Amino acid sequence: MNALALDKLRQQMIALRLDGLLIAKKANTAYLSGLRGEGLLLITPRRKIILTDFRFKEQAAQEAKSWQTYSRPGFQSLSESLARLASKLKLRRLGFEALAISYELYSKLKRALEPVTLVPTTDLVEQLRAIKTPAEIKLLKKAAACAVQSYLYARKIIRAGQTEKDLAGKIACFMQKQGAQRPAFEMIVASGKRSALPHGQASDKIIRANEAVLLDLGCRVAGYNSDLTRMLFLGRMKPKLKRIYDLVFQAQQLAIQAIKAGEEIARVDGLCRQHIARAGFGACFGHALGHGVGLEVHELPAVSPKNQDVFKEGMVLTVEPAIYLPGWGGVRIEDMVLVKKNGCEVLTTGT
Ligand code: ZN
Ligand code: ZN
Repeated sequence: MNALALDKLRQQMIALRLDGLLIAKKANTAYLSGLRGEGLLLITPRRKIILTDFRFKEQAAQEAKSWQTYSRPGFQSLSESLARLASKLKLRRLGFEALAISYELYSKLKRALEPVTLVPTTDLVEQLRAIKTPAEIKLLKKAAACAVQSYLYARKIIRAGQTEKDLAGKIACFMQKQGAQRPAFEMIVASGKRSALPHGQASDKIIRANEAVLLDLGCRVAGYNSDLTRMLFLGRMKPKLKRIYDLVFQAQQLAIQAIKAGEEIARVDGLCRQHIARAGFGACFGHALGHGVGLEVHELPAVSPKNQDVFKEGMVLTVEPAIYLPGWGGVRIEDMVLVKKNGCEVLTTGT
């Protein structure tokens, strides 16, 4: 239960003149209430209610003790329950998450809740989630350590002759033994030419001697995710590959050295991007430099040239420059960092 976040959310509700806010996105309901099961949250200036059904009623009472649970009776639809609550609470302007409610549900709610005005909102909770609490940082450190251990394990067991899927399967097993609930996302194991695919999920391709393997993995620990990319080299490293690897590594270091609270996000992205561009590979780095990590693998902030915001103390994000050469191969190096007052702390250390 995140009391501070709830206070801030209620301040936002005042600014938007909302007397109710409906939270439907699972990462957001978990963040605010602690509920791991399914349910929606209805927040008003004085009340906080979990709307759920008999499947999660008990769980909600245990996981979110300070929240009032409203369990939908029998086959009552969500829009009917909300309509009852809205009239009981005398709601007039109800905010909802525009990205989490389908058009179909929106249409039903609009009809059932009449004359309540439905107000679309975006990123209200996501923006709060971008700054991590000490308890969240502790869990993210655990998830990061699990990713590092998994990478070290991969380095130990990788052999020419095994398929990418074989390797991915063994790593996933190892993660669970290390205490991960599961991999944070479908692991990327891309060997040889396939490493030029930014999202090359493990395939049946056999890993060969003298190939580079791009390994992108993450662990989910107590709801929190990690994200780490390393390159593994079997045998000899070709000079061109070595040159590209060094370039990506230097670019990443430039960014990591520049990140601190108050620094402009776009400027740091630019530092890294320009370093790669000056060496003639500008067109080969087509994605953002990084992203926030937490209850979701990709969350705010986006570390991209378009982000006009600054880094804030307590943000946890990835720094992942890359160079992809189609038909030849690619290099990406990704670490997770915690933004601090005067710099940043790399959470994926030990590799
Ligand atoms: Zn990744
Ligand atoms: Zn990432």
